[in-house]
Formats: sequence, C-alpha cells, structure tokens
Amino acid sequence: MKIPRQNLRIPGPTPIPQEVEDSLSQPMINHRGLIFNQLISSLTSRLKKVFMTVNDLYILTSSGTGAMEASIVNTLSPGDPVLAVSVGSFGDRFAGIAQAYGAKVTNLNFDWGTAADPEEIRNALKNQPEIKAVLITHNETSTGVTNDLEAISKVVKDEFNKVLLVDAISSLGCLPLSVDAWHCDMVGTSSQKGFMIPPGLAFISVSPHAWEMYKQSTMPRYYFDLATAEQYLKKGQTPWTPNLSIFYALDVALDRMLAEGMDSIFKRHQRVARMVREKIKDLGLSLLVNDEKAAADTVTAVRVPDGVDGNELSKTMRTEYGIILGGGQGKLEGKIFRIGHMGYVNEDEIQEVLEAIPTVLSKLGFKSTKGIISNS
Ligand SMILES: *Cc1c(COP(=O)(O)O)cnc(C)c1O
Repeated sequence: MKIPRQNLRIPGPTPIPQEVEDSLSQPMINHRGLIFNQLISSLTSRLKKVFMTVNDLYILTSSGTGAMEASIVNTLSPGDPVLAVSVGSFGDRFAGIAQAYGAKVTNLNFDWGTAADPEEIRNALKNQPEIKAVLITHNETSTGVTNDLEAISKVVKDEFNKVLLVDAISSLGCLPLSVDAWHCDMVGTSSQKGFMIPPGLAFISVSPHAWEMYKQSTMPRYYFDLATAEQYLKKGQTPWTPNLSIFYALDVALDRMLAEGMDSIFKRHQRVARMVREKIKDLGLSLLVNDEKAAADTVTAVRVPDGVDGNELSKTMRTEYGIILGGGQGKLEGKIFRIGHMGYVNEDEIQEVLEAIPTVLSKLGFKSTKGIISNS
C-alpha cells in the first residue's frame, strides 16, 4: 500500500524527518550481538540527558501505555491505596490500569480543560495518609492541558514523600521536565510523540525510591518486569526481542535533539504553540483551555463552533488540504478538534493549518464575529 504524504497534525504519531525515515530501512542485526550492545548503551545514556536524570532508564518495546503499566506493576501491590489525579482521558487511563491490577484507587478528577490543583492534591494526601503512590499526567493530550508537575511534585515528594508516577508521553522531549530536579520516581514516555520517530518504543526512568517500592511490590508482572530489564541491560541487551528499526530511528533522533539543544527545543514548541493560540483567537474561535498558563505547548484543543459539523471540518481539511487534525476523545468527541504540534514541527507546517482552517470553516457556514473570515 502506498502511503500518502500528509500534514499529520494529530497529537501522535507525529511526522518524522527524512533522515529518520531512511534509518528505518537498515538491515536487521543480532539483538544479542555486539552492535546492538553498543547501540543500546549509547541510546540509554543519551536518553538520560533528555530526561535530565541519572536514574536507571529502560527502553521497552511497547507503546506508551506499556510504560504506564510498567510504573504501576513494578511499584505497587494489589490493595495498595493510590491517588490517581486525572484531568482528561489519559489520566483516566492511568487510573484504569491501577484499578485493573487491584490497587485501591482514589480518583481526584478535575474538569476537562483545566489543570490539577496542587492544593487539592495536598488535601487528598492529608486526608488519606495511607496512600502509597500518586499517578499524574504531565501533559493531558486529550484536552491540551499541561499540569504544573514541579508544583505537584513539591507536594507529593517534599511534603508527603509518596512515590510519584508520571505519564510524560506527550511532554518529554518537548516541554521542560527535569526528572531529577523535580524528584519524579518513574517517568514514562513513548517514541511517537515528542521524539520524531515512529510508534513502537517506550522509555521509562526509575528512581531509587521506586526500586525500594519494587522490593515490596507483589503485583503480577512478566513482560514489564524492570528487574529483568536491568539484568539484561547490564549485558547490553533487552529481555525480549526489541523493535530494532525504531532503535535505529532513535539513534538519529537523539543526535538531532541533542544537537538542537533541549532549551532550543522547548522554545521552539513555545513559539509554535503561541502562534496557534493567537491565530485561533484572532479567528473568533474558542480554545478549550482558558488559562494560558495551563495551555499545552504540544497540542491545542479548539472548540468546534456552533453550527459547524466537526466531522465535516476534519474531512474537508483532509481531502482538500491533506491536513489531518485530531478529534475529541471521550466526552469531548465532536465538540473539539485538536492540532498536534510536537516533535518534528516548525512554524511552516502550522502556518499551513492556520491558513486552511478559516477557508474551510467559512465553506462550512461559520461566520466569525471578528469579521476576519471572508470567502475570498
Ligand atoms: C499518547 C498518549 C498515551 C498513550 O500512548 P500509547 O503510545 O498510545 O499507548 C498516554 N498518555 C498520554 C498523555 C498520551 O499522549
């Protein structure tokens, strides 16, 4: 099947550079051999720089959800009380995984489109001192909200010293996240969002506190047992057959990321995101996230205006412009569209989207109150 080139603006998988695409067609190698040994060692040490950590770090062959599952099954036991903080559908997923493995989950949910309030997390931990772990989404992709992880970590770690498990799948490598400075115990992310490479790998860091929890933990685990991953990494291997092609891609992507520099990457995401939010407001459209401080620099959710069919909007963007927008998830289905702007992204690809949106909207009958949209 011939895959068309599109302006892929869903929040993952994200577009990949040509250089990465080329790396994917290299030959297979022995995953118990010397070349792989050198490759995984070099990738692991460069990933630690991106994570800003000296903690242990593992590359898993799975999607991001595998890293979320790994953080739970390697630290907790059935019946353990955990606080699952959720601001959207990925937060709910984290809670769901803990539930599935028998943790006693206390849900702390915030309205979709808003960020988690550290004060409420503090109250929850005060009221339930028995809680062992806090689950948090750094960047909620379903709503385009970035939680203030640094402030949350101060509560969870400095005040209560609970183990802090972080879903950083749509933030790490794009938004500032200093794993060690912020005392995050397990931080999981995946290849297809901020890393400019295809889906198929997840990365997870493990702090000494998390390893302490591991010793007590009795949740069932096999594929994602991180002590097994550690045992094999010492030999320069993974326990199970790794997704070799994506390892090659990661090698190229990490070189690019470290050459650009993490600070420049963060600034590029900020610039592009601001451009999106400004233009959306100029068009007379509403952002889902009202609080500018909580707005994600990796994905923007826009309310579908009254009288416009969200499906028609996406369809016309695709058929007439080759632009693929994200839809709404869960209770936001049909109510919002999302523009992904993470990883391999610059002003140009986004400019294309921001120019197409008003033309398509006016075709679909939307009249901006700001009078900016015309049919010309
Ligand atoms: C994409 C995403 C996930 C899920 O990742 P998969 O790779 O599809 O398993 C989880 N959490 C967040 C915040 C995400 O953006």
